Amino acid sequence: MLIAGNWKMFKGPAATREFAAAFTAPAGVEVVVAPPFVSLAAAIESGLTVFAQNVHWAQEGAFTGEISAAMLLELGVAGAIVGHSERRQYFGETDETVARRAEAALAAGLRVIACVGELEEERERGETEAVLRRQVSVLPDDERLAVAYEPVWAIGTGRTATPEMAQEAHAFVKTLLDRPVLYGGSVKPENAAELLAQPDVDGALVGGASLDPASFAAICEAGAAAAARG
Ligand code: PEP
Repeated sequence: MLIAGNWKMFKGPAATREFAAAFTAPAGVEVVVAPPFVSLAAAIESGLTVFAQNVHWAQEGAFTGEISAAMLLELGVAGAIVGHSERRQYFGETDETVARRAEAALAAGLRVIACVGELEEERERGETEAVLRRQVSVLPDDERLAVAYEPVWAIGTGRTATPEMAQEAHAFVKTLLDRPVLYGGSVKPENAAELLAQPDVDGALVGGASLDPASFAAICEAGAAAAARG
């Protein structure tokens, strides 16, 4: 059971230290946070297990604004998120660039959470499985890779997939790639237990609700309880 907090473009180093001072991870669940790049060091020094929100495929080079896996490892970062829908929507990420980022990160020794998920109109057109097949089929089969199923219409909207919808999508993803699958999309303390109780939901990728130490801790507790039930 892995609960990951994606802080997006929130929390500089001072706010990161404040979060760490107020947050206690429960036993029985693995907890990681993904702060902005400038706050990675503060998070690591505060004792958190830390992922980056993105990683480039080259080791170094003329790629303004990008960060390599080697640089993240030097800092003590454990892994990286790749392919978040906000990267795909606003920054031109494609299935191909997501796969390149994932492959390079894994080869360098980072863990990876690779995000996939359909748009609302794709779900309405009955294309969810086709989209997931396209996005998952390019990902490397690696023991340090986890997939995050994040229906785009559920991210930051307060609309969560029903536990049945999540379970169905997770089971489908696992027919394509037999790796743990986290659910992401408006996970909150109120809905976490039900989602995490689904047999193929192996954890959560949490955006907004991971910014508050108490609400993130409550979601982590729900993960620990679900893991204890097996
Ligand atoms: C995310 O950023 O991956 C996410 C799922 O956001 P939220 O929990 O705010 O919907």
